[in-house]
Amino acid sequence: MATSRTPSANAAPPAASPIQPANAAPPAASPIQPVTAAELGPSLRPGCPIDPQRLRRVVVDYLGFDGQPHRGALIVNEDLAADVIAIFGQLLALHYPIDKIRTVDNYPDADDELSMEDNNTSAFNCRDIPGTGHWSQHAFGRAIDLNPLLNPEIDRTGAIQPKTAAPYVDRNRTDPGILHAGDPVVRVFTDRGWRWGGDWTTPIDYQHFER
Ligand SMILES: [Zn+2]
Repeated sequence: MATSRTPSANAAPPAASPIQPANAAPPAASPIQPVTAAELGPSLRPGCPIDPQRLRRVVVDYLGFDGQPHRGALIVNEDLAADVIAIFGQLLALHYPIDKIRTVDNYPDADDELSMEDNNTSAFNCRDIPGTGHWSQHAFGRAIDLNPLLNPEIDRTGAIQPKTAAPYVDRNRTDPGILHAGDPVVRVFTDRGWRWGGDWTTPIDYQHFER
């Protein structure tokens, strides 16, 4: 709502407003929100090892590939919520482009393959590590996959996830959003104690950060 001003000889000049992109959204009411089991939808599977009360919806702003600011939400462990907000603030300051950030319940059956093929950045998904029967750190809200189509996982058999990511197995590519060892974006996570799957060998998982 605009504020009307009464002209006055004694009125102080209006304070300068911080410069904001024309279409920047106003700050989120609270960037850390509780989530319910119902809101987690198909991403909360039977036997899930975490109580939804331990998870939080974290609202973050990011730079899109269109060069414009956007807002998305991640579901993460309550222990990491403040850290994740700080991390995405740093990614924005670095002008690292992110395609989209949607919770995986937006995809049929919270299917991780569909989310990855859509190059969607996400965190919580109550799923196992494919082929192992062990819960992934994503099932605890302790892992984030960043621009996963551009940064695929290559498992010990050589299979690529998502399966549409073959063009991005070539890690000499320097397209915006592609992660490389030593990148400032990778260091934003690792300096905070997160592990990067791009440092692993079997699998090698360029999209994956966990803590
Ligand atoms: Zn992952």
